[in-house]
Amino acid sequence: MQTATQTMKEVTQGKWNKRPLIISGPCSAETEEQLLATAQRLANTGKVDMLRAGIWKPRTKPGLFEGIGAKGLPWLQQAKKLTGLPTTVEVATGKQVEDALTFEVDVLWIGARTTVNPFSVQEVADALRGVDVPVLIKNPINPDLELWSGAVERVARAGVKQIGLIHRGFSSYGNTEYRNAPMWHLAIEMKRRNPEMMIINDPSHICGRRDILLEVAQKAIDLDFDGLMIESHVDPDNAWSDAKQQVTPERLAEMLDAIIWRKEDVNSEEYHAALEKLRQQINHLDDELMQIIGQRMKIAEKIGEYKKNNNITILQTNRWNSILERAFLKGDKLGLSKEFITKYFDAVHMESINHQNKVMNS
Ligand code: PEP
Ligand code: MN
Repeated sequence: MQTATQTMKEVTQGKWNKRPLIISGPCSAETEEQLLATAQRLANTGKVDMLRAGIWKPRTKPGLFEGIGAKGLPWLQQAKKLTGLPTTVEVATGKQVEDALTFEVDVLWIGARTTVNPFSVQEVADALRGVDVPVLIKNPINPDLELWSGAVERVARAGVKQIGLIHRGFSSYGNTEYRNAPMWHLAIEMKRRNPEMMIINDPSHICGRRDILLEVAQKAIDLDFDGLMIESHVDPDNAWSDAKQQVTPERLAEMLDAIIWRKEDVNSEEYHAALEKLRQQINHLDDELMQIIGQRMKIAEKIGEYKKNNNITILQTNRWNSILERAFLKGDKLGLSKEFITKYFDAVHMESINHQNKVMNS
């Protein structure tokens, strides 16, 4: 039996016949002129496979532009007729699914604010029963893989055969470099869990600004994503939503030209032999690291015995601080980032605490 996800890859490799799949278009459909002009200029680049446009916009706060609504759907239909580009729209309710399908939208996507809500995802899934339309599911706004997987499962259970994923980053409190932190490891884990499912990266909503779009898109391609969804607009600065992150169709084309498109594999014995040798070295080093960490835990257990006999707490903040200080200094000399050292020592330290805990409470 074919899995749902295999079919999605086939669709993108078959009907639109291209990997990576490039989806672009405005954050929101604003006017018929804006949508048609954007679509035409995108089509002129010859580099875009599908036209996106938000028709219903879930906004964090009321009073912002909440989308043109169903009246924009005929514009999309018109854009498709004009350019031949298939279209994709975000849906969040059963009614929106119905309306989008009535106007022959080719691919639906579920937005990040909808993926978080099982009631909404279920409503969308129920409306999709018996309908043969591809659905792309964005990650939820919070870094919760189970919620993302749950949405995929709900849509799959409704009988949708063509499901793909969109990685658009995760929101966090306070200002960071990104509008939504990519947390690449979560997308990589989702990819590992669903090896047959296509996964597209959305640099626009990760970055929230134009100047770092290319960097993020390149990273996604380096990580073997199947495509990109990037917002574009004929007049980005005056867009009614997400103005800071949109680019003109021509700038998009420049970016796509600048990306170094990497392949997953190559048919060269020399390359494979060289890689195999280096990978063996990595395996050896990983084995050694684990051996050494195992030894470290044994020593931590011995310390645990002493602490137990002398009734001393497991955590000693001063000692922990001095371990970290030393590690930052050493790590810096070895080219290891402070961020990595912190994560690594946190993990090692927690494991030590767990080992000591066992000793002290046995
Ligand atoms: C969008 O694609 O315009 C959008 C609202 O995205 P997200 O659901 O990722 O916030
Ligand atoms: Mn947007």
